[in-house]
Amino acid sequence: MPEGAVLREPTECDIVAFMAHPDDAELQCGGTLALAVARGSRAAVVDFSRGELATRGTPEDRDREAEAAALELGLSCRINLGLPDGRIEGSHDTRKEVVRLLRLLRPKVVIAPALRDHHPDHMAVARVVDESFYLGGIGKYLPELEPWRPNTLLHTMGTRPGIPSLVVDISEVYETRKRAIACYKSQFHSDDSCEPQTRISHPEFNDWVEGGLRHFGFFIGASYGEGFTSPMPVPVSDPVHQYSVVPWKNLREES
Ligand SMILES: [Zn+2]
Repeated sequence: MPEGAVLREPTECDIVAFMAHPDDAELQCGGTLALAVARGSRAAVVDFSRGELATRGTPEDRDREAEAAALELGLSCRINLGLPDGRIEGSHDTRKEVVRLLRLLRPKVVIAPALRDHHPDHMAVARVVDESFYLGGIGKYLPELEPWRPNTLLHTMGTRPGIPSLVVDISEVYETRKRAIACYKSQFHSDDSCEPQTRISHPEFNDWVEGGLRHFGFFIGASYGEGFTSPMPVPVSDPVHQYSVVPWKNLREES
């Protein structure tokens, strides 16, 4: 693979985000993916649709922007399922495709959208990934591929208020996350664009995104944080070590 290339074919990875539209991964968990890459893990994104219903930009624009953003985040692979934007549903075929990808990508950590969100596609992806997560481990389901059940499934916080089960400190990759989002030029505010304004092309959208990351960062004493919910309790092997970092002081207590 040429240096800097992002594979469009499944390749083994450690963490994968399944999202409805190109730019969802960057906006919802781009920091967590970039942080995983910075720590030496392999990260991937699966976009369900090409975002052809978007008010601004074309699917071709979105393809190019998604590729550029993948390079910024350092993804090993980014796959687009080409399902119809606005009509994503949890059919048997869709679950089979997600199970197929889980078994080819073999991630330890899976990220899906919030189960409650403003966009029906986001909720549909959240549900279908939830269902496929379990099916992936059943040997007689799609028996031609070796079963694989990842260790955990996390949901992003979406646009409905909720309390996160965990917050990832993404402060050190915040600038990378911002650059990845900026790759979606067709979607965000630009003084020279004549396209209609949308929620995400509002001139203050970036401030709102930053505000959300600041909000979750505040919970854990970090500059920026990405929150997630987990349907299962989050395992902690050493609570004393885990809670030895004093929030807001960035100090480790002397023992
Ligand atoms: Zn979306």
